[in-house]
Amino acid sequence: RAKETRSNSHCRYERSFHAQAEERRKLEIALRSAMKRDELHLAFQPVVDAQSEAVVSFEALLRWRSTEYGPVSPEKFIPIAEETRLIVPIGEWIMHEACKAAASWPGDVRIAVNVSGEQLLDPNFVSSVIGALTTSGLAPERLEIEVTESIFLSDATRACTALEHVMAVGCTVALDDFGTGYSSLGYLRRMRFSTIKLDRSFVNGAAGGNRECLAILQAVVTMAESLGMSTTAEGVETRREVDMVRKLGCRKIQGYYFGKPADALAAQALFAMS
Ligand code: C2E
Ligand code: MG
Ligand code: MG
Ligand code: MG
Repeated sequence: RAKETRSNSHCRYERSFHAQAEERRKLEIALRSAMKRDELHLAFQPVVDAQSEAVVSFEALLRWRSTEYGPVSPEKFIPIAEETRLIVPIGEWIMHEACKAAASWPGDVRIAVNVSGEQLLDPNFVSSVIGALTTSGLAPERLEIEVTESIFLSDATRACTALEHVMAVGCTVALDDFGTGYSSLGYLRRMRFSTIKLDRSFVNGAAGGNRECLAILQAVVTMAESLGMSTTAEGVETRREVDMVRKLGCRKIQGYYFGKPADALAAQALFAMS
């Protein structure tokens, strides 16, 4: 009997493993033609100044509405795009689209674009950023590149060099999801990030009464300030969280409380209101 149970659970495990691999393979095939089928678009989520609550920037977030599978979550397809290096051409398209949208916004509103490690390490990355800025006419100062700590894993030197090049052009660089990756304070010493983005798990944790989350947030804000870096609290959903992160000294706030990711037209409506 024991043997039977084991082989049954083994079977179940294998089946779910195969199902997952199969789903991934299907998504990969669909993703390969997503760009030319016009299935990709960008959503824009507002980031507000913690004091005035005025919109200071938008983060561009990639959306995929597949003809076969409907809307697919970025958490699912971004890793596939990275593994297949499809993120390189897709990322170049994102950069152009994001800069084009931002060029039509009021002059002080900035755009933040997420960049994966594979994209950053591509030899054409810097020239493609310059290309997007030139084509759109967007001032480099209005573009922020968001990277996560994982970009430093494979080739930290080349990643830093690429970021230093875009900084030399006038763009700024933000460190996304801080504290969730292989955090090393060495990167903070080496790279002049304009902003550290505090991951929403800490924000939600602290607001829910978790003392460790609160202590970490407090320490990171203090450290960022000492380093001359700004902070953005991510995933802020309630008034309570707004008040908490403001009290902690966060400079900027992003989250559903102030606005969900929305299409470019809805983003523009936010300017009309203010
Ligand atoms: P991220 O860069 O940390 O983006 C923030 C994520 O948190 C977004 O998820 C956003 O919709 C979500 N979010 C914002 N406010 C709230 C909130 O108040 N509550 C909750 N529960 N969630 C909130 P999304 O759009 O699903 O993207 C997930 C991740 O996929 C991003 O995390 C980023 O790492 C990656 N990603 C998205 N777009 C791109 C892109 O254009 N290029 C690259 N390379 N990666 C992207
Ligand atoms: Mg981001
Ligand atoms: Mg983030
Ligand atoms: Mg994230």
